[in-house]
Amino acid sequence: MMIKTAMERIGIVGAGMTGATVASLLRADYPGSNLVVLDKGRGVGGRMSTSRSMKANSFSVDLGAQYISISEPYKERHGRFHKELITAGVLTPLRSDIEGNKSRDPTITHHVAPQGVSSIVKHFLNQSGAELHTSEQIKQVDVKDDKVELTTESGERYQFDSVVLTMPVPQILQLQGTIADIINSKPEIKQKLEQVSYSARFAVGLFYNPNTKLSYSWGGKYIPEDPCIRFVAIENIKRGLNNPKLGPSVVVHTNVPFGLEHLEQEKNVMVPMILQHLRDVLPELPEPDEIKGHKWRFSQVHKAYEGGPGCVVLNEKPLIMLAGDAFSRSTMDGCIESALCTKDALQKVLSTKSNI
Ligand code: FAD
Repeated sequence: MMIKTAMERIGIVGAGMTGATVASLLRADYPGSNLVVLDKGRGVGGRMSTSRSMKANSFSVDLGAQYISISEPYKERHGRFHKELITAGVLTPLRSDIEGNKSRDPTITHHVAPQGVSSIVKHFLNQSGAELHTSEQIKQVDVKDDKVELTTESGERYQFDSVVLTMPVPQILQLQGTIADIINSKPEIKQKLEQVSYSARFAVGLFYNPNTKLSYSWGGKYIPEDPCIRFVAIENIKRGLNNPKLGPSVVVHTNVPFGLEHLEQEKNVMVPMILQHLRDVLPELPEPDEIKGHKWRFSQVHKAYEGGPGCVVLNEKPLIMLAGDAFSRSTMDGCIESALCTKDALQKVLSTKSNI
């Protein structure tokens, strides 16, 4: 449904899967709106991030989400999104083995993103045509008359008619300004937000020169009993890619107890320890040419917002909405669900505005 309202300026905080999908849905319904996406990261993708080596002579690594599992209910509800991503070549069926994958449901289908999982986010961001500002960390959210004002760490100010916040919930709770008073004035919402929790993990990407051969038959492998390592992927095999000009790459995820135990450690301190464990798990793996470590303080949602509403309207006039996987589930489809909920809630509020 295309709705005609006065030109709305809508700010979306977070260039991850939820923020990108919200932007593309809003662009379809409000072609004339002014959409601005802000993210504290240097690139886009959020927890669907893809990282390249400095030399750019190996396959990139997906440091967060690995592969996309689509369950039967989502095939129906989100079929148009899946079809769009598959038609555009952004998603292809997973053809390699993921050893130790415990999913027993034969109706679930698995997909990979050949260009890296961040290409899913980029697809929706590009489609939205939204103005994108990276390296902009929002510190403060204030209501000023009928506008929402966002202030960044560097003191930059942005004003919007409506704002959607898609960052992990603990980062929403850290925001300063009027938003803290609004949350305090709604004890039920505040309590539910405070109950949301996430797992934590470290991820390490290993990059190899083009002449390196890794002789594994699987694309991914869950490691059940290691005290540190939970999952390893050989990226080029996982994504079904073969390019002799690019060297192989590997991504390693630690398990959650290890991540929680070492949560306050710097990633650079942890990488050697993780690689030591990796030698026990895959002793034949050669030394990489380049290593990239990442700490996911907020990895997958452990306890979602009670009731899984998809999104929450925090303030109606001006509109401040909360969205993201914490309000549904920690998967691509969970983010699409949250984005659809956000679009519907926004439409409701904006349609009453246009009737005034
Ligand atoms: P995010 O991706 O977290 O996006 C929020 C964005 O907000 C981020 O880009 C962040 O930089 C930005 N931000 C935060 N605070 C601020 C601020 N103050 N100012 C400005 N910007 C800010 N899903 C799957 O479907 N399959 C998988 O195999 C899978 N595996 C996973 C493995 C790991 C290790 C992790 C971490 C996640 C995995 N997931 C997987 C989950 C999936 O990645 C997430 O559910 C999804 O990416 C969440 O998207 P989002 O947009 O809701 O949040």
